[in-house]
Amino acid sequence: MGTKKIAIDGPSGAGKSTIAKHIAKALGYIYVDTGAMYRSVALYCLEHGIDPSCEEDVRKVIDDICIDIKYENKEQQIYLCGRNVTSLIRSAEMSMGASNVSKHSAVRSKLVSLQRNLAEKYNVVMDGRDIATRVMPDADIAIFLTADVEDRARRRYYEMKEKGEDISFENVLEDMKRRDNNDSTRANSPLVKAENAILVDTTGNTLEESINYLSQIISKKLR
Ligand code: C5P
Repeated sequence: MGTKKIAIDGPSGAGKSTIAKHIAKALGYIYVDTGAMYRSVALYCLEHGIDPSCEEDVRKVIDDICIDIKYENKEQQIYLCGRNVTSLIRSAEMSMGASNVSKHSAVRSKLVSLQRNLAEKYNVVMDGRDIATRVMPDADIAIFLTADVEDRARRRYYEMKEKGEDISFENVLEDMKRRDNNDSTRANSPLVKAENAILVDTTGNTLEESINYLSQIISKKLR
């Protein structure tokens, strides 16, 4: 029997990762955060003086970038060339860098194949932008999770404030709009709802409400 695959796509700040983590834990599946892989490529570029937007320069180093996913205490840890970079990749700079490197075909094919290998080995809840459209078009369940951009920016702003980042709401909102535009207008695997995906809009909902709603949909579908 094949592995079980749950795909959750959507723009940033819609609550994908928190919800996906929760669902994976409840089902005993592995949670795969694909955004972390793009962020790690961005980190590599920034540390090596490479402009993440320059396709040619990024292509030259893509084979040197080694990304490993490990599970420690059931939490995804991401290793970049042997170094654990799980917390280092969470900054606003890496968010923009990831959005820029994710446009390049060489980056996407490398990471998509890594993601497919994980989905062949484990039962997964995988979140990203192209999971149901490209990585696992055969997913058992596909969800497209979204929310109004102001709502998403507000959630991200409070998250970053809590971590002690010195950032204004206007900047977070601006970054989010820019990333939305980058991610949904790029030529390679743009962010779009897969035909078979269930659309869930979490605007105005608390995280708990969204988790409950999605858990219900998923358990019904898996039954
Ligand atoms: O989900 P997260 O905010 O960590 O993703 C960072 C960036 O990585 C996104 O803005 C997007 O450009 C890119 N990404 C992608 N495809 C995925 C996951 C993330 O293009 N499957």
